[in-house]
Amino acid sequence: LLEARDVHRAFGATRALRGASVEVARSEILAVMGPSGSGKSTLLHCLAGIYRPDQEEIIFDGTRVDTLSEAKRTELRRDAFGFVFQFGQLVPELTALDNVALPLLLAKTPRKQAYAQAAPWLERLGLDDHATHRSGELSGGQAQRVALARALVHRPRVLFADEPTGALDTLTGENVMNLLVNAAREEGITVVLVTHDARVAAYADREIVVRDGRALTTPSSAVA
Ligand code: ATP
Ligand code: MG
Repeated sequence: LLEARDVHRAFGATRALRGASVEVARSEILAVMGPSGSGKSTLLHCLAGIYRPDQEEIIFDGTRVDTLSEAKRTELRRDAFGFVFQFGQLVPELTALDNVALPLLLAKTPRKQAYAQAAPWLERLGLDDHATHRSGELSGGQAQRVALARALVHRPRVLFADEPTGALDTLTGENVMNLLVNAAREEGITVVLVTHDARVAAYADREIVVRDGRALTTPSSAVA
C-alpha cells in the first residue's frame, strides 16, 4: 500500500536518512524500531508526506506522493492519513472532545455528525468523563489518548504513530495498544508505528529497524 524507495533527508549537515527503503502492506501493522536519533521520526514524516525528502520515491496506493503539489499532499494527509506525534499536538484551548472532532470539522462534516462520531472514540479510550476538559489541562497520558482518538476519528487508511505510548505507564500503554490494534484490525487501517519498546513492537505484524538513516527489514540483519 505504501512504499518508500531510497529516501534521503538531511537537516543541514545532519544526514537523518541515507537511503531508507520501506514497504507497508495493506492492513499491516508495522513497527519501526531503532536507536534514538537513527531517523525513525524523520522516516515517518517522509512516509506521511509531511517532510519532503531530498531524494527518493514515495508511493501510496499507486501514486507518487513526493512529487505531488503541496495542496494535493495536504488533501491526501487530511483524507487518508491519521497521525499521532511524538510531541504535543492537541490544541490546548479546545476541549478533549473538540480536539477529536476537529479533523471531521476541517473535512466539512456537519457539526452534529462530527460530535456524534467523536464522542464514542473518547469513550473507547476511557476518557468520556474528560470530554469537556480543556486539553491543556489533561495529563500527558490522557492527552496521548485524545491524540489517538483524533487520529482515528475519520477512519484513515494509514495511521502514523510516533511513540504513541511514550508518555504512558505500562498498563495504560497496553490499553492504548490494544485499542489501536483492535481499531486497526476492525477498520482495516494500516499502521506505521515508531517505538523503542519491544513490548509495543510485539503488537505489530512485522518490525523493521532503522539504523544510521537506513531501514533494515529484519531484526537479524540489524545485528549483522
Ligand atoms: P528518537 O528515538 O530520539 O525520537 P529518531 O530515530 O526519531 O530519534 P529523528 O528525529 O528522525 O530520530 O532524527 C534523526 C536525526 O535528524 C537526528 O540527528 C536529529 O537531530 C536530526 N533532526 C531531526 N529532525 C530535525 C529537524 N527538524 N531539524 C534539524 N535536525 C533534525
Ligand atoms: Mg523520534
